[in-house]
Amino acid sequence: MNVHYFKSETALKIRAYLDMHLPRYTELLRAMVEINSFTRNQTCVNRLGDYTNKVFSELGFIPERVASVIPAYGKHLVLTRRGAGGRTIGCVSHLDTVYSPEEEEMNDFMWRVQGDRAYGPGTEDIKGGTIVMLMTLEAVRHAAPGLFEEVAWTLLFDASEEMESDDFGVLCRERLGRSALGCLVFEAGIIRDLNFSLVTSRKGRAEFRITVSGKGAHSGAAHRKGASAIVQVADVIKKMEALTDYSRGLTVNVGRVAGGSLVNRVPHSAEAFAEMRAFSPEVFEAALDEILKLNGYSSVSSADGRFSCKTAVEIVRRVPAWPDNPGSNRLLGLWQSAGELLGVRAIQEKRGGLSDGNFFWDSVPTIDGLGPSGGNPHSSERSPDGSKEQEYTVISSFAPKALLNAMAVIHMIESW
Ligand SMILES: [Zn+2]
Repeated sequence: MNVHYFKSETALKIRAYLDMHLPRYTELLRAMVEINSFTRNQTCVNRLGDYTNKVFSELGFIPERVASVIPAYGKHLVLTRRGAGGRTIGCVSHLDTVYSPEEEEMNDFMWRVQGDRAYGPGTEDIKGGTIVMLMTLEAVRHAAPGLFEEVAWTLLFDASEEMESDDFGVLCRERLGRSALGCLVFEAGIIRDLNFSLVTSRKGRAEFRITVSGKGAHSGAAHRKGASAIVQVADVIKKMEALTDYSRGLTVNVGRVAGGSLVNRVPHSAEAFAEMRAFSPEVFEAALDEILKLNGYSSVSSADGRFSCKTAVEIVRRVPAWPDNPGSNRLLGLWQSAGELLGVRAIQEKRGGLSDGNFFWDSVPTIDGLGPSGGNPHSSERSPDGSKEQEYTVISSFAPKALLNAMAVIHMIESW
């Protein structure tokens, strides 16, 4: 990746530093990838937390471990460094990955460098991001030590980002307060040619469980007495899916359905699992209302009129939407100016997937996608014909991305 950054002394200084230290960063990444940190692998998530603490302690960070609300998960890691100026900048990454040790073993999924790609569990999501966070901080300290000292840095590492972990969002809100300059999230960001994608909004998501109770009956002898839960759930599914409206960034997906037992029985029960996503909180809330109206809904009765099916809709989990907002756009502006100086373009991306940023963008200006470029996140399989490939990160994207981040952060501190 060839970045033209000749217009700035600071940029030149940073790039030279990052290039010189790239072998060290690659080694640190390898060490992190070799610690399995599947969310449910509590001991090893904690081990990765210890290792991460050790790596950042060189920069003068003080660690604190915060227990997850779910006792089976590892501890969140908070690293802080006092600043002379009193203003805080937050940085967020996570410790966990989606791969169990068994899966890694089964698919022979481990650290492997091939050309410019480093394959392995969490290389893109998100250990590569943690390394780019480190590179960004070291770059700022190297090129602008005075500014680095002025900032109170708070680094937060989620132990269970890949699972239900609303408590970490609460922790971020608490620790960053409302006066932080910004929060930087280091999920991956695609880089194509000189275009660097940065995330300034993400969809919110609600997950639902739909259960229908019908009435079982002999499908030959007493068909008129039966009320089919499957026909009822099918009606509910069609109503839910019909809410999808791409023009408003709203999608509903019924992802799993089950019901009935034997073919000679009118099915007495059925259930479905669904999710709804939207960027705008208004659209999100309106769709949520529509879906919850289906709680108690009944449109299917037995032919003898004695029994009507009953639908129950419950929310299993909800993650708030992160809509387009002035705070995130202001941060994007800093990245865009830094990009201009470096001869690259910072491109705004609105992403359908969730991150920890969904939980605190309304409390602290937040920007995401600050990690390196890569591909195949959450994929461990590999096929000989190349149609399936494992998660990887692009090594040559690390220094340019950290440089862009560092320049933007320096502008951010300078413009206090
Ligand atoms: Zn992630």
